[in-house]
Amino acid sequence: MNFSDYQGIYVVAIPKNGQLVKVSAELIGQAQKLASQLGEKVAAVIAGHHLEDMAQELIYLGADMVYTIDSPILSHYDGVAYQKALGQFFKEKKPNVVLFGADSYGRDLAPRLAGELVCGVTADVTGLSIDEETKLIVWTRPAMGGNIMADIISPDYRPQMGTVRPGIFHAPKKDLSRKGSIIPVTISLDMNDLGTILKEVLRAEDDCPLENAELILAGGRGFHTKAEWAQLHELAHLMGAAVGCSRPMSVMGFEPFTHQIGQTGKGVSPKVYMALGISGAMQHMCAVKPDILIAVNKDPEAPIMKLADYAIVADLRKFIPMFIEKLKALKEKE
Ligand SMILES: Cc1cc2nc3c(=O)[nH]c(=O)nc-3n(C[C@H](O)[C@H](O)[C@H](O)COP(=O)(O)OP(=O)(O)OC[C@H]3O[C@@H](n4cnc5c(N)ncnc54)[C@H](O)[C@@H]3O)c2cc1C
Repeated sequence: MNFSDYQGIYVVAIPKNGQLVKVSAELIGQAQKLASQLGEKVAAVIAGHHLEDMAQELIYLGADMVYTIDSPILSHYDGVAYQKALGQFFKEKKPNVVLFGADSYGRDLAPRLAGELVCGVTADVTGLSIDEETKLIVWTRPAMGGNIMADIISPDYRPQMGTVRPGIFHAPKKDLSRKGSIIPVTISLDMNDLGTILKEVLRAEDDCPLENAELILAGGRGFHTKAEWAQLHELAHLMGAAVGCSRPMSVMGFEPFTHQIGQTGKGVSPKVYMALGISGAMQHMCAVKPDILIAVNKDPEAPIMKLADYAIVADLRKFIPMFIEKLKALKEKE
């Protein structure tokens, strides 16, 4: 394998419901950082249908060039068809690095392509850097049940590939003056390339999804009863916030698993993250990257109190009812 043939940092963007997903933007930001250190270009490849606006958005976010694989066969994600399309594309392009989002699509597609391209893939990455000496990508991820952070490299195969957790990195701001090339790629696909025939899509109802929330109120084991948990929801509603939780609260059935934050849940990067009755275990905090972290805990020595920008020592059973009362009074005055 001649490594010098393998060039470029590629981001794989897989649209959902006809839109770019936030992790694609986050990946472009990381690809830009890696590319500037390696002196390479950032390319995005987007596969789906009706891709013009999304391709332009990827340029605004920081891609130097965007390859579009547009076909009605790719209207909805299908692992078999996407593997065929992107497998063919990457065999021709020979990228140095390929970044996927570690969402359900990326987690399915990356190992399929690793098999086809005969290379490795590091799953669920939470940190990306470059080894100064070898210029290899260092993929960092929790290992051994989350007790250590492992650095993984791929010295013997190309491309170097990894899936990156959504919500861990900040998405770059769009620069509407950026220019780049949009390059259509033709790959012949027909119905026989589909692994499944999609008959109907039933959308899950979630009126306040965590991924896009700017304000998150996350509760942990400091809440002892469902009645106290209902107060967390009331407070979140008054503040226009999404509700998240630590693992014990989803395991105990206080909150659906889809709202669990952490190593085995979702990654989030809101403007403000208010952690209520959460101790700050590494398995929770590794997926929390807010601009501002506020912690409310009755124990001033809880680990999260040292990480927080604002640490409030309080008992939730008093703090939350008082907070709700104050907000209601303010709203009545408006
Ligand atoms: C492989 C693995 C994966 C994991 N994945 C995840 C994950 O994805 N997400 C996750 O969250 N965890 C995960 N965990 C669990 C993690 O290690 C912690 O056990 C968990 O995050 C602790 O949740 P907590 O902070 O709510 O509870 P605790 O650690 O019990 O903390 C409760 C906090 O509430 C405070 N408190 C108690 N009562 C009150 C009160 N009345 N008022 C104010 N404060 C109060 C306490 O002082 C304490 O700090 C994982 C663990 C493993 C081993």
